[in-house]
Amino acid sequence: MPHPAGDNTVVDAVCLMHIDPATAPAQSRHRGRTYHFCTRDCRDWFEADPDRYVAYLSGVEPRDAFTRHHGGGPQRTL
Ligand SMILES: [Zn+2]
Repeated sequence: MPHPAGDNTVVDAVCLMHIDPATAPAQSRHRGRTYHFCTRDCRDWFEADPDRYVAYLSGVEPRDAFTRHHGGGPQRTL
C-alpha cells in the first residue's frame, strides 16, 4: 500500500500509484525522461509500449492513482 506521500513522489505510468523515486524498485528511460515503477512488472509493461503509457499518463486525473492500483499485474486492457 502507498505510504504517506512526501513532496517528491511520482506516478507509476502503468498502475498510476504514487511512488517515491528514491525507493522505487524499477526505472526506465524514455524520450529523455526517467520513469519510475512500483515493480519490475510495471516497468516491463511500460517498455512494451511506452508512448501509449506516457500519453495515458498525461491525461489522467491524479485522484485516480489510488483507486487503480493493481493486485499483481496491470488490469487495464490497452
Ligand atoms: Zn506499478
